[in-house]
Amino acid sequence: MTSQNKTYELQFIKGIGPRRAEILFKYGIKTVTDLFNYFPRKYVDRSNIVPLNKLQPEQEVTVIGRIEVAGIRKGRKPIFYIVISDDHGILEAVWFNAANYFKDLFKVGDWVSLSGKIGFYRGFQLTHPEYDRLGEKEIDNLINTGRIIAFYSENESFKRAGINSYTFRKIFDFLVSNHIQTFSEFFPPEIMDKRKFLIRPKAIKEIHIPESNETLDEAIRRFKYEDFYFLQLMFALQKAHQKEKPVGISFDKKSPRLEKLYQSLPFELTEAQKKVIKEIRKDMKDPSPMNRLLQGDVGSGKTLVALMAILIAIDNGYQAALMVPTEILADQHFINISRMLEPLNVKVSLLTGSTSQKRRSVLGRELKQSIPHLVVGTHALIQDAVKFSELGLIVIDEQHRFGVMQRSQLVEKGINADVLVMTATPIPRTLAMTAYGHLDSSVIDEMPANRKAITTVWRFDNKADKIYEFIHERLDAGEQVYIVYPLVEESEKLDLKAATEGFNFLSKNIFTKNKIALIHGRMKSDEKEKIMRAYTANEIQVLVSTTVIEVGVDVPNATVILIEHAERFGLSQLHQLRGRIGRGEAQSFCILKTPYNIGDIAQKRMRIMTETQDGFVIAEKDLELRGWGDFFGTRQHGMPEFRIANPIADREILEQARQDAFELIARDPFLRKNENTALHQMMKTQYKDKMQLITIG
Ligand code: ADP
Ligand code: MG
Repeated sequence: MTSQNKTYELQFIKGIGPRRAEILFKYGIKTVTDLFNYFPRKYVDRSNIVPLNKLQPEQEVTVIGRIEVAGIRKGRKPIFYIVISDDHGILEAVWFNAANYFKDLFKVGDWVSLSGKIGFYRGFQLTHPEYDRLGEKEIDNLINTGRIIAFYSENESFKRAGINSYTFRKIFDFLVSNHIQTFSEFFPPEIMDKRKFLIRPKAIKEIHIPESNETLDEAIRRFKYEDFYFLQLMFALQKAHQKEKPVGISFDKKSPRLEKLYQSLPFELTEAQKKVIKEIRKDMKDPSPMNRLLQGDVGSGKTLVALMAILIAIDNGYQAALMVPTEILADQHFINISRMLEPLNVKVSLLTGSTSQKRRSVLGRELKQSIPHLVVGTHALIQDAVKFSELGLIVIDEQHRFGVMQRSQLVEKGINADVLVMTATPIPRTLAMTAYGHLDSSVIDEMPANRKAITTVWRFDNKADKIYEFIHERLDAGEQVYIVYPLVEESEKLDLKAATEGFNFLSKNIFTKNKIALIHGRMKSDEKEKIMRAYTANEIQVLVSTTVIEVGVDVPNATVILIEHAERFGLSQLHQLRGRIGRGEAQSFCILKTPYNIGDIAQKRMRIMTETQDGFVIAEKDLELRGWGDFFGTRQHGMPEFRIANPIADREILEQARQDAFELIARDPFLRKNENTALHQMMKTQYKDKMQLITIG
C-alpha cells in the first residue's frame, strides 16, 4: 500500500495508530463519531455465560475460560486444539483449518471467550467457535463485578490488523473517558421528556460499556429511535415543503380520452382500480405535485390505471413519460400502449439506450411540436437530454429496479411534474413507511374477476422427460411456453451461457417441430423487439430466456412457464416470473424445476410458491426468510441503512419516531426554533448524503 504519508483522523487515538486507522477508514470508519457509531454486535454478561459443568449437547453457548493446553494434532490435515477451564470444568475447542494461524493466536494462560454449538467427540467439544481474547481486568469485571462485555463484528482485514473485540473495547475505554464530552444532546427537551431517553453522552457510553442490562436496553432504545427519527424527519420536511409549493400543475379539465378508453374496455374495472383512479385523479387535480406510490400484484391492472392518469395529463395539454426498467419491457409497453392510445390520437414514442441518434433528434423535434405525446422508455429517458416541452406526468414502473437518484433526476427534467411510482412487489405496511414514508400510497388489492388460479408444481430434474411431454401437449393445443434460465452468480455472461446452452439443447432435441427462440438482455433492442412481437403474435411458440422477461411482459396465450434451477431465484422473483402466465382464459401452469438436493430455505421457497399466489403473502414470507437487511439490500437501492434499528422487530419505536417527527415539523417546519437548532445541525452534518437521496420518491 502506498498511503504511508496519508494521515487519518483516527490514527492518533490510543490503541489505533496509522495502519489500523487506514483499515478502519477503508471500511467507512473515518471519524471519532463513526467509531462511536460502530455498535457492538452482541453482549455477554455473567448471566449468559454457561459454566463448563453445565453444558448440554447441541446447546448454543458462550463460555469463558483460561487456556490450559494448546497444540496441533498431526494428521492428514493438522488440527489446532485448545482446552480451556473455568472453576467448574474443562472444554475442548478445535479448528480444522489454518492451524498455524491459531497457534500464534492462542497461548496457554490467555483468557478467552468462545461461542458456538456444543458437539460431541470423545467428550464435549466446540468446532470452529467464535472466539475473543479477554483481558485480566475484563475477566475480573465480568466475573466479580458482573459487568457486561461488548462484542464487535470483525472482518478479515480487521483481524489481520489485530482489530478485534478486545481492541475495540480498549479503544472505547479510552475514548469514553476522553472524548465523550464532545457529544452533546441534540433532541429538544420535549422529545427527551416524552420518551424519557438517556441523555446522548450517557447513551453512547452505555452502548459500548454498559453499566447494567437495564441501562443498556435504554441506550439501545434511544439509538433505534434515532435511526428511525432522522429518516422520518426528512420525510416530514419533504412533505411539508411539497405542500407549500403551489407551483405544480392542477389537471382540472375532464378527460374525454379517458372516457373513451373506459367505454372501449371489454371488461369492467375492479373496485380496487376504481378506488385508485379516484385517488390519483384527486392528486392530479390538486395544484401541489402528486407523489404517489401504487402497489398491486402482477396482473392486477396497474398499467391500465397508469394509462388513465396519462390520458388525464394529455387532455390537460401536457406530455407524459413512462419509465420502465428494461428495454424489452419498454418495447412491449410501447407496442401495447401504441395500440391502445393511437386510436385516441395520442402520439406514443419509444426511447431506450438503443434508439439511434437520428430517431432521437426526430423525437426531440416532435416533442416540441406535437403536444399529445407519451414517451415510453428506459432510464435513457433521464440520462439523455430529452427535452419535453410540457412534461406533466411521470409514471415509473417497477420502481424498485431504479435507484432513488434516477428518479429525482427524472423529476428535475419536468417542471414540478406529477409522479406516479408503481411496484408489483408488495411491501408490507411498516416497511412501506420506512422506505416510502414521504409518498402517498395506493394499493390495488383485488385481481380482475376473470383470472384463473395458476397451477404451480415443483419437480426434480429427473422428471425432465415428463415435463417436456406435458409442454408438448400444451403446444399442440395451440398455447405458448416460456422457459427461463436463472442468474448464475450475478454474471450476465454466465447467465447468457446457461440460457444459450439450454436453447441449443431444447431446439435440437426436444422442440424440434416447434418454433423456438432465445431472447436475452444482451441482444440489440430491435432484435428483441422483433422476437417479442413474433411471440406476441404466436409466431414463436417456445421462448427461452434469461430473466429479462421478469417484469410486465403480457402475452395471454402463454400458459406454461418452466423455470430451470428455480432454487436460485428469490421468492419475489419467482412470483414475478409466474405473473407472466395466467393472463388469458386457459388454465396456466408454472413448473419449478430443481435438482434433488437443495437447501432448506430453497425448499421452503418452492413450497410457498406451490401454496400461494398472493403477492402480499409472498412478500411477507420473503421478508421472513431473508430478513430485513437482505430483503431491502438486494432489491431497493437508496434504502436507509440503520445502525441498530430493525423496522420489523422495532415497529413500535418506528411509529413513535414517525409521530414525533411529523409533529415537530408541523410546529416548526424550518427547524428554526431555538430548541431545535441542535437537531437541525445534527441533521445537516450527519445525514446530509441521505437527505439528498430522499428529495423525491
Ligand atoms: P399489471 O401492470 O398490474 O401487471 P396490467 O395492467 O398489465 O397489470 O394488466 C394485465 C392484464 O389484465 C392486461 O391484459 C389488462 O388489459 C387486463 N386487465 C386490466 N384490468 C382488468 C380488469 N379490471 N378486468 C379484466 N382484465 C383486466
Ligand atoms: Mg405492469
